[in-house]
Amino acid sequence: MRLLLLGGTSEARELAALLVDAGVDVTSSLAGRVARPRLPVGRVRVGGFGGVAGLRAALADYDAVVDATHPFALGMSANAAAACTDLPLLRLERPGWEPEPDWHHAADHEEAARTAARLGSRPFLTVGRQELARFEPALSSLPVLARVVDAPERRPPDAWRLVTGRGPYTLEGERGLMAGHGSDVLVTKNSGGTYTRPKLEAARLLGVPVVVVRRPPGPAGVPVVHDVASAFAWVRDLG
Ligand code: NAP
Repeated sequence: MRLLLLGGTSEARELAALLVDAGVDVTSSLAGRVARPRLPVGRVRVGGFGGVAGLRAALADYDAVVDATHPFALGMSANAAAACTDLPLLRLERPGWEPEPDWHHAADHEEAARTAARLGSRPFLTVGRQELARFEPALSSLPVLARVVDAPERRPPDAWRLVTGRGPYTLEGERGLMAGHGSDVLVTKNSGGTYTRPKLEAARLLGVPVVVVRRPPGPAGVPVVHDVASAFAWVRDLG
């Protein structure tokens, strides 16, 4: 059984470790966006496949696919669903955070930007490097603090300050960062998981409103599990 594990998440790394331990022939795939990625154990390939056609060609070397990419990595999940017509495909997607009653939900990043501009004047953006440009029309003149893993290629507006960092974060650290900046609104995707959760608690303690970008729906018709153990069981049951 040769498994392709589409990764870039902590869950994918956990699953890779379990599968390698169990003797499964697993190859983890990373997009190659991050300069110094945390590597899973076992075999790793890096870089895009070249769309659905490229992925379909690559799948000749595999018997099954687990898509454990980030809940907001829509393109890769859609490509996997389109390419895996003849191969078993499972989606491993961590649960979203349980919504707090006072969260401000946004359907997309543009709506989140407009909501942040309405709620505050010193936004803290934790939406990832690739989405920052979508916040510029609404927030370019504000003293935004934007946290990213790697700095974006395009320079952000002069009024913005970039900090680099990568979870897991601590409550103490998040509270200090937000208080130091004077953040008065936090913007996040509903990524779920524990690594980036402390900012939500920090915002609550500081009385800072939270704008949460809703998860986009994943591709229809793909079976989904929400924890690593279930994904491991699915692979094991394939034989
Ligand atoms: P995306 O928009 O869904 O994917 C865009 C393209 O990047 C895909 O079409 C594919 O290129 C390539 N790609 C994405 N994931 C890949 C993988 N695991 N292996 C090989 N190629 C991959 O993805 P994204 O949102 O840019 O995320 C990129 C990676 O970062 C993902 O692996 C994801 O798990 C991780 N990540 C994303 C986020 C987020 O908020 N989006 C947060 C944390 C981690 P081709 O079409 O050429 O195959």
